[in-house]
Amino acid sequence: MSSHKSDFPILSQKIHGNPLVYLDSSATAQQPLVVLNAIQQYYEASHANVHRGVHELSARATTLFENTRKKIQKMLNASHAHEIIFTSGTTSAINLVANTFGKNFKPDDEVIISEMEHHSNIVPWQLLPVKLKVIPISDQGEIDLTEYQKLFSSKTKLVSITHASNVLGTVNPLKKIIEIAHQKNIPVLVDGAQAFPHMPVDVLDLNCDFYTFSAHKAYGPTGVGVLYGKTEALQKLPPYQGGGAMIESVSFEKSTYAPLPYKFEAGTPNIANVVGFHAALEYLTNIGMENIREHEKKLLEVATEKLNAIAGLKIIGSAKEKLGVLSFTLKDIHPHDIATILDREGIAVRAGHHCAMPIMTRFNIPACVRASFGLYNTVDDIDALVKGIETTKRIFHV
Ligand code: PLP
Repeated sequence: MSSHKSDFPILSQKIHGNPLVYLDSSATAQQPLVVLNAIQQYYEASHANVHRGVHELSARATTLFENTRKKIQKMLNASHAHEIIFTSGTTSAINLVANTFGKNFKPDDEVIISEMEHHSNIVPWQLLPVKLKVIPISDQGEIDLTEYQKLFSSKTKLVSITHASNVLGTVNPLKKIIEIAHQKNIPVLVDGAQAFPHMPVDVLDLNCDFYTFSAHKAYGPTGVGVLYGKTEALQKLPPYQGGGAMIESVSFEKSTYAPLPYKFEAGTPNIANVVGFHAALEYLTNIGMENIREHEKKLLEVATEKLNAIAGLKIIGSAKEKLGVLSFTLKDIHPHDIATILDREGIAVRAGHHCAMPIMTRFNIPACVRASFGLYNTVDDIDALVKGIETTKRIFHV
């Protein structure tokens, strides 16, 4: 794959006098110029509220907004556009399911999650009267499928699991996980925040009941997310938030609700950023999700080899199937110190618990450094990272 760095205006700058090396795409990805232009053009030529007006601008805005929904349907291979619900992000999509599907949970009901979940797929369930059953992970950072099967009981209501870990990079064997749950008539929600931007996703092939992701991790704007749900799964859910756009009729005695997807889209949505997201999705499909996956796999291979050769550096997570995510510790140097020194070299990495504290507990570390790759990264970026780590070692005399 040729380099796409020049498509991203933000990446051409210097940080502390050094060329920016952005290795924090798992936290949020940068936007190509086409996305920024699409948002500006939308505001300059087509902005109005959607689904409401009969005037030309409203019709244009509605068409652009709905085109994004259709584009997502196509990319996910979903059966219908109405199975795509716009939210403000993965977090709000999971909370939507928790607050509707989970509405009638009893305190001794159970939701199965895994030890590698982001806090967004732990805390929404803890706000409900429900118990969490947790699938353990191996030292390599892989799901233990045998233990998983043992967690089902007559109280199990849902399996809610990440497609890929934001710390370990592990890509979970979702098809198998979903098949096992369905054999027991249990629906599955997938947290696709990390996977969607980096690999092809086919919800029909996976056969998941719900799939969630965020636009900002997929080279789109912030404030937009998606909940995919099978029609029959979404139809069973009560409305989430009440307000404009989600109703069919309203009186003081009784209101009736709009059909899918509008039933779950109360209020004015983030129109401009949904329109901008369309440009990001076009950009991704033009490059090809398979090509992006291959490119990042190669980067991961190179980076793993180079980082493993650094004495004292320990990579956390060595699953067979991984995204371009490399988390590590370096002797007993605090991850924040490492990230600060790297920042002085122009290298942006993340340090901390990465909103996945149970993984830190599992691997018995307080925190770690994470370098995560996007489609714009190159082997030169990895070389810069290695150089930065060597500098850190020299400063700390390790
Ligand atoms: N799930 C995973 C695996 C993530 O990595 C993240 C963000 O880092 C989220 C959920 C939450 O995404 P958002 O903050 O966009 O809602």
